[in-house]
Amino acid sequence: MEDGELDLYIEAGKIARAVLSKGAAEIREGVRILDLVERVESMVLDAGAGLAFPLNVSRNEDAAHDTASPGDERVFVKGDVVKIDLGVHIEGCIADCATTVDLGDNSPLVLASRRGLERALSLVRPGVTTGELGAAIQQEIESMGFCPVINLTGHGLDRFQIHTPPTIPNVRLHGGAVIREGMVFAIEPFASSGTGQVSEKPRTEIYQQVSLKPVRLPAARKVLDEIRPRRGLPFSRRWLEDSRREIALRVLMREGLIRSYPVLSDKPGSLVSQAEHTLVVTADGCIVTTR
Ligand code: MN
Ligand code: MN
Repeated sequence: MEDGELDLYIEAGKIARAVLSKGAAEIREGVRILDLVERVESMVLDAGAGLAFPLNVSRNEDAAHDTASPGDERVFVKGDVVKIDLGVHIEGCIADCATTVDLGDNSPLVLASRRGLERALSLVRPGVTTGELGAAIQQEIESMGFCPVINLTGHGLDRFQIHTPPTIPNVRLHGGAVIREGMVFAIEPFASSGTGQVSEKPRTEIYQQVSLKPVRLPAARKVLDEIRPRRGLPFSRRWLEDSRREIALRVLMREGLIRSYPVLSDKPGSLVSQAEHTLVVTADGCIVTTR
């Protein structure tokens, strides 16, 4: 890690933690999702930091990658299991954290992902393998009668990069990467009352630029101008000016300049909880930047 980077990770973590807990406290029946998302995203910018990705707000069987659409009319309703997942960055040093707000009667489900996360965090130190972390997460979640989500994982973080090695599985696997001092990564267990496997829904609100090649359509070029300051970090459809953004996104997808992050869901009627922290590995353990 470069000189000064640790301080930036810690500062980003401090902002993320404060904003996430304020945002979580505002989630109640009848609140508009769009209002919550705009308030939380503004809090990050007002704190002088950047958004590493649009605030994810995913409910019930939707595990990840939903956010408010432009003019979104949806409101939180009684019984919702709400995951909010926040990414804050300072000069590209990212803090990624998430929590679950239960508007129903699902405290064991919420506890399961939290316990999985705490167990894994307690094990992190140089020499431990990612497979051992996954085994601990799986054990905690299954001991409470739920399934860990097998195809969502924690991930390494780097400057302006939200998904780098190592991958931190939520289930036991043999071997895996060996944890080393100085690594920065997020651990994010998901517990589900469904199958423990997510698949893509048609709904897509989050995108990311993946290529720099030129494009001819003026509307597409305008979107590229708008997202250039993201430096490859994900963005929301909601953040784009609305004139011709739909055609621009279609063209940019077709030309391979952007990728999409469709909403990822377990089976209809199931419920999923999530807990996430970011950490920096030290000589004998780790610093959890978002706690
Ligand atoms: Mn996250
Ligand atoms: Mn993450």
